[in-house]
Formats: sequence, C-alpha cells, structure tokens
Amino acid sequence: MDKEQEFLSGLADAEESEVQFRLAESATISTLCDVVENAADFAKNMRDKVLDPRTPPIACRAKCDHCCYQSVSVTAPEALRIAEYLTRRKLNLVQRFIFKLSTLNKKIEGKTPEQRGALNLPCAFLDKGKCQIYKVRPLLCQKHTSLSLQECIAAKPHGFPPGSITEEKAQLATYTAIISGYRSGLLKSLPKSFHGSYELTKAVLVALETEEAATLWTSGQDVFEDCEIKLIEST
Ligand code: SF4
Repeated sequence: MDKEQEFLSGLADAEESEVQFRLAESATISTLCDVVENAADFAKNMRDKVLDPRTPPIACRAKCDHCCYQSVSVTAPEALRIAEYLTRRKLNLVQRFIFKLSTLNKKIEGKTPEQRGALNLPCAFLDKGKCQIYKVRPLLCQKHTSLSLQECIAAKPHGFPPGSITEEKAQLATYTAIISGYRSGLLKSLPKSFHGSYELTKAVLVALETEEAATLWTSGQDVFEDCEIKLIEST
C-alpha cells in the first residue's frame, strides 16, 4: 500500500470508529444528525488539508446546477436529517416540499440513474439554481466537483455516468474515503436498521410523511424499504 492509499485508508478507519463511538450509547435523531454532520465536517477539513494549491480550479459556481438533475443516493440518517431540518423550519415549508417531492417521485420512481438523467428533471430541492437544503445536503452532493463545465453539460442528459466528469482529486479521494468509513460505521453500529442506498427524493418524502420515522428506523423498522435506488433496468 503506498502512502496515499495508507492515508485514505486511515481516514476511512477513523470515520468508521467515530460513527461507532457516537452511536454506541444511543441512536436518536439528534445523534444521527450529529454523525452525518461530523462526517461532512471531517471530509471538508481533510480535503482542505490535502488540497494541492497547484490543482486546477474547479468549474463549480453559485447557481450552476447541471449536476442537480440526476439521481442522488443517500443513507437513512441523511434522509432523516434533511426531514428534521425542514420540520424545524415552517410547517408550510414541509407541506410545500412534500408536494414537490411527491410530484417528482411519481415521475422518477423505478428509473435507473441513466433514465432519470434523461428526463432532465431538477431535484425537488433546487429553486432558481440554488439548493434549498444546502446546509444539510447529501454527502454525495458535497463530494461532487467538476473541472469542466463542458463535461457537466455533456454528462447531464445521461445521468452523469461514472467517469464522465473530471473531479478535483483531493476532494474526490478524501470524501470517497470518509463516506466509505461513515457507511461502514453505520453498518457496524445499526445492523438491523441499515438497508443500503436510497433515492433522495423518495427517502426524504418517506421521512417527512411517516410519523416518528427516526424512532421507527432506529428501533429496526425498515421505513425506507421501498426507497432503494435502482441501478439496473429490470428485464
Ligand atoms: S440536494 Fe441540493 S445539491 Fe443535491 S441535487 Fe438537490 S438541489 Fe442539488
């Protein structure tokens, strides 16, 4: 293992241990939100530490939203955290997002990422080019960067297939390692409740519409069982 791999493996291990430590005593909505927030902060800090100043500038800019027209995979704590964030704001905001999520979900449910990309439909949280849940956006949204606007424009109708975008190397490597450690920590801490990768739209809709979704999920009830992201077309 070379030094870079060793460093990234250390990041994943550190994040996995942190998740296990934080969830060892209780897995309440508050601890779940903390776990996700901590993973996001850790990834950002480590990215800042290893960023090479000679790296080419990323092309991502405010109100550039090409990547917000695709499938986004989330874990259950991320979906619960977004629902919690919206619920803590105004009731009419929750109702507005339930309507937007439900409308979008009817159009994209059962689609593969490629099929969803081809529909050219914006994320339910996108408004006038801005993410309405920016503070609590999914870890994969935080990880994403691009060095080329042209590549984003070309990849958008195809759902951003793997390898279609040249991403900023330090961000890609640190976020990938820490998200992997985060997911592994969840798996080891909450084996009965962790069921994989969920489609953002449906998972947040379920989290908002299900009464006590967080309590049910942490007690082992699979409230997200129909939200798995579909990766291949059924034959
Ligand atoms: S959650 Fe926010 S950043 Fe992620 S796809 Fe939706 S609008 Fe874009």
